[in-house]
Amino acid sequence: MTFQQIFGKPPETQASAPGRVNLLGEHTDYNDGFVLPTAIPQNTTVQLGFSSDDKHHIYSENLQEQISILDVEHPPSGFASYIFGCIEVLKKAGYTIPPLALYVNSSVPMGSGLSSSAALEVASLRAIRQLLNLPIDDVEIAQLSQQAEIHYAGVQCGIMDQMASSLADTEHILFLDTRTLERRVMPLPTGAEIIVMDSGVPRTLASSGYNQRRAECEEAARLLGVKALRDVTDVKLTETLPEPLNRRARHVVTENNRVLEVLQGVTPERFGQLMNASHASLRDDYEVSVPALDTLVEILQNTAGVFGARLTGAGFGGACVALVASGKVDARFAAHVLEQYSQSGYTGRVLVPSLGLNDAA
Ligand code: ADP
Ligand code: MG
Repeated sequence: MTFQQIFGKPPETQASAPGRVNLLGEHTDYNDGFVLPTAIPQNTTVQLGFSSDDKHHIYSENLQEQISILDVEHPPSGFASYIFGCIEVLKKAGYTIPPLALYVNSSVPMGSGLSSSAALEVASLRAIRQLLNLPIDDVEIAQLSQQAEIHYAGVQCGIMDQMASSLADTEHILFLDTRTLERRVMPLPTGAEIIVMDSGVPRTLASSGYNQRRAECEEAARLLGVKALRDVTDVKLTETLPEPLNRRARHVVTENNRVLEVLQGVTPERFGQLMNASHASLRDDYEVSVPALDTLVEILQNTAGVFGARLTGAGFGGACVALVASGKVDARFAAHVLEQYSQSGYTGRVLVPSLGLNDAA
């Protein structure tokens, strides 16, 4: 279905925003630390026009579902809550928003850790900014998106996903200091590209494990007398902590230092080494990997043309990301990796690039 078919007229405007993958800086955001995401080629497009009545009408082509919203007394649940949240945070910021008709279509896989939710929010806010000529910049779009997700979709998220979707593109990585929001957009290492693979293992323990790690980091920071682990730069200090807080803190400190090293400018080879070290640290010190992720990461690390690989996202299942020499990722590459992975009894999937590479194996 098209916008025209659903709403009986063409859209007034449209805007897009990409999904994202985090290359380095995992489990650092809630420690006030540093992250290094980049945009992926898949994106979400929102077509927008004025509603013909007093309701907002939101249609998702991906879900083939339409939701109509009358007012704030009757907030929607599900996918429309992200967009309703965007409209409400704009109102709270003082803007008058008329009833809207929105049509959503996306190539970002939903719920795979590539941040389809941030892409949806940023694309919606961009489209509304365009339609109503609102004087908001890209950082404000990210902040409004985060507020929408926290207060209307009920997800306690950081700011990384929305900043990446709003500020990065596929040629650039976003260095972000999650405490100060100081940031720098940098080119991807020359001669390198990205592959993201789904391990096929769901993130079952993700939320309990995530909350436990957060609590451990808070306790480690308290024992070290700092506001957050980001304030520790000398890894030796973590040795005074009891098990397992010493290893949890060591991961955060070394991970932040790895991101800061990239900021100085590194070769793709060095970038890859830092990703490999990040995975080892997430596996051994932070203990958020699982055998499937270790297997897939090891296969990638041992494949010709790969500079480095690691799990990405919270862990306990989910996806891996690798930095690969430009031009290497093709059907043969995908078949080679997927075939080896399947020999270990798992079924993986290439998420990025989205070139139908999964049919290769
Ligand atoms: P991720 O952001 O990693 O993809 P989330 O669970 O944070 O996973 O967000 C996924 C949710 O975002 C979906 O369940 C849906 O509610 C919403 N969403 C994202 N993209 C779309 C879309 N194109 N159409 C409808 N809903 C979407
Ligand atoms: Mg999300």
